[in-house]
Amino acid sequence: MRDLLMIPGPVEFEPEVLQALAAPTLGHTDPAFITVFGRALKRLREVCLAPSSQPFVVSGSGTLAMELAGANLVEPGDRALVVNTGYFSDRMAKILERHGAQVTQVGAKPGEAPSADEVETHLARGGFKLMAVTHVDTSTGVLAPVEALVKAGRKHGVLVVVDGVCATAGESFHQDAWGADVYLTASQKAVGVPPGLALLTVSPRAMDAWRKRRTPVASVYADWAEWLPIMEAYEAGKPAYFATPPVNLVCALDVSLGQILAEGMEARFARHQRMARAFRAAWRAMGLRMLPVSDAVTANTLSAVYYPEGVDAALVGRVKGQGIVVAGGLHPELKTRYFRVGHMNRVGPTDVLAAVGAVERALIAAGHRSEPGAAVAAAQTALVTG
Ligand code: PMP
Repeated sequence: MRDLLMIPGPVEFEPEVLQALAAPTLGHTDPAFITVFGRALKRLREVCLAPSSQPFVVSGSGTLAMELAGANLVEPGDRALVVNTGYFSDRMAKILERHGAQVTQVGAKPGEAPSADEVETHLARGGFKLMAVTHVDTSTGVLAPVEALVKAGRKHGVLVVVDGVCATAGESFHQDAWGADVYLTASQKAVGVPPGLALLTVSPRAMDAWRKRRTPVASVYADWAEWLPIMEAYEAGKPAYFATPPVNLVCALDVSLGQILAEGMEARFARHQRMARAFRAAWRAMGLRMLPVSDAVTANTLSAVYYPEGVDAALVGRVKGQGIVVAGGLHPELKTRYFRVGHMNRVGPTDVLAAVGAVERALIAAGHRSEPGAAVAAAQTALVTG
């Protein structure tokens, strides 16, 4: 039997999305594809709750989405503030530095997130052009206080870039209402499409800042100047070419975004919260500790859980033996001490109970003392009452 993929991306995808990938490839100037691409761009705006934004859909992974933000919004000598919650914030800092920014970081211990007040203290000193925040840091499972951070950035007049790779369409986010300038993401997590697409929605303010650049963008592939006419053309129902679009992935994206919007953004965020609560109840019932230090900073899209006393990273293989694929740790200092379970996209109660049951059996087999069924019962209770 096929294992269930419950790592923090890629995840399990809907059959209709996978069917779009298996369909005969259309030409990128085919009228049918133009319709699909144009609709996908409009749907991306809706999913990010960013009606005023300019969407970009580009072939590449989430790291390209980060680069598409950094390369276009900073110039040599600009100052940038990175709110650092782990591995992917480090990556954002590296990208901004590579494009010439002077980066200041405001960090926290692993499992914690800097408070909006702390970040404001830095912003109040002035001089920053841009602030970058990782919505959910996939290495630690930490959820940043993103609404408050975005609002703080807005108050101090900096461009706010939010990395939503492990959050978009899973964690509550209202780009326009909160005032975020870039929401960047990738296809393979809660957006529900296999890996291969970098996605961005960019505010008019950020587009203006880009238009006012003094220096050219130091990458051709990442330059919005190349991509903007393409996105505008497809949305207007016309073909255009800069680099061949990943036709089948764009078709799959259109299907997935349609399904996401049919579920409804608030319903989808609430479902992710309910599933995450059930997982948290299960971890507690087995006496396990999570990496995030409090519920307030715990993501709804994945669980990062410390191995209990006497259990090590071999647990991941044992869980796979029980039919569920989970991931090891990723944080440089702690990676051998915890495992991660992704719970996003089509995740539902059946997946929660299957995953909790598999982890519970694997832990007991590894020598952890826990009453068989206690974790499943706790998750079930949370699902029934939540
Ligand atoms: N940011 C975050 C928060 C991520 O989780 C990831 C991928 N796990 C990335 C960026 C990079 O995305 P990719 O691996 O698709 O390049």
